Amino acid sequence: MAYVVTENCIKCKYTDCVEVCPVDCFHEGPNFLVIDPDECIDCTLCEPECPAEAIRAEDDVPEDQRQFIALNAELAKAWPVITEKKDALTEAEEWDGVKDKLKYLER
Ligand code: SF4
Ligand code: SF4
Repeated sequence: MAYVVTENCIKCKYTDCVEVCPVDCFHEGPNFLVIDPDECIDCTLCEPECPAEAIRAEDDVPEDQRQFIALNAELAKAWPVITEKKDALTEAEEWDGVKDKLKYLER
C-alpha cells in the first residue's frame, strides 16, 4: 500500500506535507503534488499535515478518486522530488474544496 495525493491538492499545493516525509517521496508538478508509491513506507505522517485533506491511504481513497492512485505512480516518475515547503499557489484558498479539478491538472 501507499499514500496517495487526491484531487483537492490540484491548484492548492500548500506543500505542508513534504517536510514530514522521512523518505522524500513527494514529487512536484506545476499545480499538483504526487507521492511515489514505490518509495512511500506508509508512515502516515503526511496525512494530517495536509490542510486540504487531499492525502489518503490507498485503501481509503474514495471511489470517485481511484484514478489518482495510478496518476500518482505515473507522475512521480516524471516530476522532480520536493523536500522543502514553499509558498502555496496564490489562489489556493479559493480552490480548496472545489469539485472536479482534474481537468485543471497541468503536467
Ligand atoms: S499539503 Fe496537501 S494540498 Fe498541499 S501539496 Fe501536500 S497534498 Fe497537496
Ligand atoms: S505516508 Fe510517510 S512515507 Fe508515505 S508519503 Fe506520507 S510521509 Fe511519506
